[in-house]
Amino acid sequence: MTINKNKPITLDLCKLLPKAELHRHLDGSIRLTTLVELAKELDVKLPTFDNDKIGDYILKDKNCESLPHFLEAFQYTTSVLQTAPAISRVFYEMCEDACNDGVTYLEVRFAPVLHLEKGLSLAGVMEAVCDGLAQAEIRLRIKVRIIVCGLRHLDPSVTKDLAEIAWRYRSKGVVAFDLAGAENGFSSTLHKEAFALIRQKGVNCTLHSGEDSSWHSVADSIHHCGAHRIGHGIAVQENPSLLEYMVNRRIPIECCITSNLQIKGIPSLDAHPIRRYFDAGAVVALCTDNVTMSNITLSGEYKMAIDTFNFSVEEVVRLIDHAFSATFIEAPMKRVLRHDAVLQSIRLFKEHGYDVSGVLANKDYYLEAGIDVTGSPKNYHPIPSVTHEMLSKLPKADLHCRFEGSVSLDQMWQEVQLAKIDINKKFPSIKQPINDFNDFKNIIQKPHHDPETIDIAKRIMNTLLQTSDQLNRGFDNIINVALNDNVQYIEIVFRPSSHCQVLTQEQALAIIIAKRNQWEAEGNIKIGIVVYISADFDDPIDALAMAKLAVANRSNGVCGFGIFGNDPIPPNELHHYAKTIEYLRAESFNLVQFCGKFDIESIVSTIHVGGATRISGAFSIYKYPRMMNYLSAYSIPIELSQTDKLKTFTKDLSFTTPIRHLIDSNVPVVICSFRSSLYSSTRSDMLCEVVVNSQLNLKQVISLLRNPFTYNFQTYESKLKLKQRFNKLASDYLQSISINMDSLQ
Ligand SMILES: [Zn+2]
Repeated sequence: MTINKNKPITLDLCKLLPKAELHRHLDGSIRLTTLVELAKELDVKLPTFDNDKIGDYILKDKNCESLPHFLEAFQYTTSVLQTAPAISRVFYEMCEDACNDGVTYLEVRFAPVLHLEKGLSLAGVMEAVCDGLAQAEIRLRIKVRIIVCGLRHLDPSVTKDLAEIAWRYRSKGVVAFDLAGAENGFSSTLHKEAFALIRQKGVNCTLHSGEDSSWHSVADSIHHCGAHRIGHGIAVQENPSLLEYMVNRRIPIECCITSNLQIKGIPSLDAHPIRRYFDAGAVVALCTDNVTMSNITLSGEYKMAIDTFNFSVEEVVRLIDHAFSATFIEAPMKRVLRHDAVLQSIRLFKEHGYDVSGVLANKDYYLEAGIDVTGSPKNYHPIPSVTHEMLSKLPKADLHCRFEGSVSLDQMWQEVQLAKIDINKKFPSIKQPINDFNDFKNIIQKPHHDPETIDIAKRIMNTLLQTSDQLNRGFDNIINVALNDNVQYIEIVFRPSSHCQVLTQEQALAIIIAKRNQWEAEGNIKIGIVVYISADFDDPIDALAMAKLAVANRSNGVCGFGIFGNDPIPPNELHHYAKTIEYLRAESFNLVQFCGKFDIESIVSTIHVGGATRISGAFSIYKYPRMMNYLSAYSIPIELSQTDKLKTFTKDLSFTTPIRHLIDSNVPVVICSFRSSLYSSTRSDMLCEVVVNSQLNLKQVISLLRNPFTYNFQTYESKLKLKQRFNKLASDYLQSISINMDSLQ
């Protein structure tokens, strides 16, 4: 078959492509013939019972004036959806219509309170819907899940009841909770208690926001209700910083382009921001909203978007993948659906004579999701075992290198000499005399540290990093050690107030920034700086000042803010940091926070209240499969290392190692060096220990090493470059020892 590079993508092909539909309302997706039939059966008044004329009252594809005008049609459709058989039937038929349009995964949403007029209870409505779902999954080739909608204009106590019913039906197909209805005058913050309940119970949520209101409505939904996805989000385009926040947190946008045009949310189809969102790295999912009123199909929306926004074959495959990646289905099933959808799309494009070389050229994007698009035959040779040499030669990134704990011991000892410090005098609690390097080493590096020995080691190192010269030498030392270990990207985690015996916080940070710029200019390594505060020593007012200092230096390489401490901040104390958190959010600045040392509560609050992009520690997470599933679904990485602390806090995990357990649960793990000078091993040694203890093969090691190139705090474009760099260096090295990296996927 001849391949035409510019062959237009047809509607027929869009129909064949496997699609996930994430935003479709039950009462907006009824067949007109069914509406008339049910109305007669249930004695419901319609403006006409003529199948040919009913469309004039229901369809809004021509001459719709506004959202309220659009919503008028719903009075007729909801009026017939008042009995269990009618609800089940309409639900089933909508699944059938979706299936005939090539939709292989469908999330149906509806507000149970709108179906109580004839005496059905909330549970009765839920049963009817679940029944329709069960029938659809048995008889049709489609997977279906349910989203329960709360309504903005109703009393918040009703929203809470609805949230509760959503949770009660979680094992019968409910995957999420939504808030629908007019936005203006009905802020989502009014309903934040319902969403707190939803988050606590581990149910997903998506909110209609930024449809006929400003970007503030979207920000409210994300910051106060913890939205995992945003319905519509047209208004996000008004605020680039909010868009960046959504890109960084991977909060998908359900785009319903035709629906937006009909309610006059956009002046013309091509004015929709989907292309801009997509190019900025946001996850966008094409959706219909209401197939009946809008008189559309999902395949038609794909065709229209392709024609309007010039999406290439490669981009269409990515759009399809975006939608599947944004589904609320359980993580293992999501992986299967994504995999099938991408490979089937490529096959269909190929069979119909389209050029798929673009997809192959972008193979790394798909590899991240574990999808091999190259079609290379799987070889079933044993995966090569991992050696220490491989670990030291493979490219690495380190996302948590704590400045004051990472300067090498030799350098530290040199500082002792230069500063002429008598350690015994300065730290009288140390009983053994420190006269030479070995004495010094015995204090700082122990085979097993306890909190007391760590504390003294930290204090000694801190004393030696106070002057401008000491900071400069320390920084050089850290980078040289990293380069020796083939580190390509590093995030230096720096607390300005730790270095203030002679300098101010601003001066200390300025020295680090100048050094960072100098090293970056040489081009051998990329460096980000994460400014952090200690929850043990810095008070919340310092936190805000530090956050401002960090953000003020974002163009100077400061890419994130951290809150660390011996113990996580308990959820009921997080409000002390409210100003800092609000400020960081408004600035769309990355946040990493230590949490989950003892229980899950601090993990939930760190992510939802704090808005953290990355979490650190989370030792206790292995006890909570739902939370692991959650981090996996939303790609929230955990910074970890094989430390004594990790071992202590996971000691009842007897059948596996904590790191292995997380990897097996698809939680993104980033192995970090933290305070490596407290231990005598290099990064490669440490990785080797992880590999041996957790029995990782080369395939798992490659994905573990790739993680920090994916989950760092750089911008979307820089991340893409870093990932490319990793893939190139890793595959070149493996090639040199006769291993094909593609064959490992
Ligand atoms: Zn909607």
